[in-house]
Amino acid sequence: MDVAPGAPHRNLCTDCGVSRTSQPKRCSSACQFIAPRYPQLEQQAHGRAAHPHNEAHFGVLEAMHQAWLQPPQPGAQWSGLATTLAQRLLEQGRVSAVLTMQPHPDDPWRPQPVLVTRAQDMAQCRGMRMGYAPLLQLLEPALAQGHTRLAVIGIPCQIYALRALQPTLNLQALYTIGTPCSDNTTTENFHQFLARIEPQPEQVTYLEFCPDYHVELRYRSGRVRRVPFLQLPLADLPDDFFPTTCRTCVDYTNRLADITVGYMGGSGQQWVLVRNARGADMLGQLGQAVQLTPPRSSGRRGGSVRGFVANTRRAAGGLPLRRMPQWLRPLVAWLMPKIGPKGLEFARARVEMKAAETVLHLRRTHAARIPRMVPAHVWQVLKPYGIKPLEAERAPTPPPPAPPA
Ligand SMILES: Cc1cc2nc3c(=O)[nH]c(=O)nc-3n(C[C@H](O)[C@H](O)[C@H](O)COP(=O)(O)OP(=O)(O)OC[C@H]3O[C@@H](n4cnc5c(N)ncnc54)[C@H](O)[C@@H]3O)c2cc1C
Ligand code: SF4
Ligand code: SF4
Repeated sequence: MDVAPGAPHRNLCTDCGVSRTSQPKRCSSACQFIAPRYPQLEQQAHGRAAHPHNEAHFGVLEAMHQAWLQPPQPGAQWSGLATTLAQRLLEQGRVSAVLTMQPHPDDPWRPQPVLVTRAQDMAQCRGMRMGYAPLLQLLEPALAQGHTRLAVIGIPCQIYALRALQPTLNLQALYTIGTPCSDNTTTENFHQFLARIEPQPEQVTYLEFCPDYHVELRYRSGRVRRVPFLQLPLADLPDDFFPTTCRTCVDYTNRLADITVGYMGGSGQQWVLVRNARGADMLGQLGQAVQLTPPRSSGRRGGSVRGFVANTRRAAGGLPLRRMPQWLRPLVAWLMPKIGPKGLEFARARVEMKAAETVLHLRRTHAARIPRMVPAHVWQVLKPYGIKPLEAERAPTPPPPAPPA
């Protein structure tokens, strides 16, 4: 295959940026899609590995909250916690640069990696872009400019590679702010999707799949439109709309970040998972500006997840429900009776659905990768649904330790 120098060249790759550094061969040990080492990297990042049963869904947890920043920040995806955490680090001089994404100047939906050195410039990074871009390519320029105290905001496949590289970076401080991520696709594919749900897609400035089963669209005019998932006119999405990477990645909740900032367990607010003392310290910096309440949970997820698993099996590689994007299909079962899992139960359901899709899709497309690529936490959350490793899918047993000399 002909590839441009430094461009991604692996079959499963979200172009996190490692292949574009001066040492692209580090992909072989830094990539989430080859042989992820979650317990080892959790130990490195958080001081301990996730509890195999209690923390299989969300990873290592010191604390978990519903959260809302007061006042919410204009242009933010939710209330702006992710960018504000990094902004405070810059204001307080704890870091000299933040590595994150800003909107591409030619296309506001396309993420563009940026090294931010002034606190006020974090505002331009607010909001969600669809797609992926080589965030970690900027690590070497950052180090060359003398930034040894860094913060990084990233999605799970980026934070995984960052953690794998961290011991080689000689940083004095590294703060990692993660967001959950699932069902991402290329920016080009996203534009196709937007054009199907909105006749004037260029007017849309914001889109979110909300946990109340609506897609929220915001427009340049200030208009807000909320579309129930069931009414999305999405019959013609191609089967390869979601790349294999994003259908099979193994970390929905950004298990290696110091703090994960999302929404899906937040019952309409943000959902914050504090994983270690650095994460707690970052959240603490916000003081009274952030309202924290205990997360809520209600409903039962089992039926929804079982319906999703059955649909995924039936679809045999394509998008199981042809009239909606793949990750929305299980929600139909919840929407129809107008009841369903909420709060943490919703988040657990989504994690289990993602895990099921990972295994079922890998079995069809890259079965030989399963023993190394699927970590124990994925199998653990799938136990109630009868999805377990076949003999050929078991992780290779590590060699016994060498006897003392
Ligand atoms: C593709 C994608 C899928 C997501 N799916 C879920 C989900 O299923 N469940 C859930 O709970 N949360 C998900 N999130 C996270 C959620 O959309 C919000 O980013 C998060 O709740 C933080 O909101 P905020 O207001 O605190 O962020 P803001 O303060 O607005 O900051 C958002 C930060 O995310 C960065 N960012 C934006 N787009 C990208 C991108 N494409 N790649 C890397 N970094 C980016 C920005 O640069 C910024 O630093 C997803 C995010 C992305 C990018
Ligand atoms: S480490 Fe990053 S650049 Fe390398 S193969 Fe994996 S996703 Fe692609
Ligand atoms: S869905 Fe997974 S592989 Fe795709 S961009 Fe998000 S974290 Fe990376």
